[in-house]
Amino acid sequence: MLSERGVYGYSAVLMGSPILLKLFEHNEALVSRVFRLIKKYEDLLTVNRAQSEVMAINHAAGRAAVAVSAPVFALIKCALAASLVKDSCFNLAIGPLVKRWRIGFCGASVPSVEEIAALLPRTRPELVQLDQSAETVFLTQPGMEIDLGAIAKGFIADRVRDYLKSQGVTQGLINLGGNVQTLGSPPGGWSVGLKKPFSTVDSLVGTLLVENKSVVTSGVYERYFEQDGRCYHHILDPRNGYPLDNELDSVTIISTDSLDGDIWSTLIYGMGVEKGCAALRHQPGIEAIFVTKQREVICSSGHQFRFTLLDSDYRLVTDNIA
Ligand code: ADP
Ligand code: MG
Repeated sequence: MLSERGVYGYSAVLMGSPILLKLFEHNEALVSRVFRLIKKYEDLLTVNRAQSEVMAINHAAGRAAVAVSAPVFALIKCALAASLVKDSCFNLAIGPLVKRWRIGFCGASVPSVEEIAALLPRTRPELVQLDQSAETVFLTQPGMEIDLGAIAKGFIADRVRDYLKSQGVTQGLINLGGNVQTLGSPPGGWSVGLKKPFSTVDSLVGTLLVENKSVVTSGVYERYFEQDGRCYHHILDPRNGYPLDNELDSVTIISTDSLDGDIWSTLIYGMGVEKGCAALRHQPGIEAIFVTKQREVICSSGHQFRFTLLDSDYRLVTDNIA
């Protein structure tokens, strides 16, 4: 526990990431209840262990529908809807490809063209069947696997915010490693750093000031490996099975719910700057900051946050502001 100007910071390692909770009070009992809540949801959603509710669905692929708890069903329903949007780069059934690439885990390697071609048909979201009344999920082909890695943290960050609210907390921040969710508006707002891509020290491109908002970043520099001089990162293009390849180093989404931030960060990542900005013009509650390989920082709009550029290697481009 660390205290700085009345803000208490509590850290832990959960979901394979360093977690940070900030509160304006010193309350160890509340903190351990929050960390237990995170662990409870991690245990339901993980695909990095043999057993979880999601793994029970995966183990029964091609054989049987599996009943899951209400929050897991609701999350899968939401993930399926995002996966079925035309040209969506978000795909909850991406599991077989994620498992084969192993990006971010030891033993990562580039699959052969034949391996990718064999796995792609097992990743079609149309092959996921939900039964709303029974709350069951059925992967209709053997070898299919759901992977909620792109949205589990956002879902859990929202649950933490809701729990803190229910406990009468008016100001707090949870950082689940890439997903920040904030509650309330301390003097000056919550400051959230935007990491400099591929920087070895923890340098920032800039900072955002937000109140009651989630800030989610998906970046190619978060988890990747190199083979034969090429860099392969962990967000896969469901259309071809390879890491998404475009002008972006990262996308940050500012929204009320972190789950929306997670879904949109993957969707927008797939669209790139131009199509992404166009899509967000129809989504007033969702805003994006793009960081490109050309070292440009582009804000889709700026109603829910204030951005300050800190690194002079980067250029703030405002042409695209809607
Ligand atoms: P993190 O914030 O944990 O670094 P992201 O939220 O950017 O990660 O999501 C990346 C993770 O999502 C991958 O590690 C993988 O488990 C899963 N994933 C990869 N590609 C896709 C995709 N196209 N759609 C949905 N999930 C994906
Ligand atoms: Mg995400």
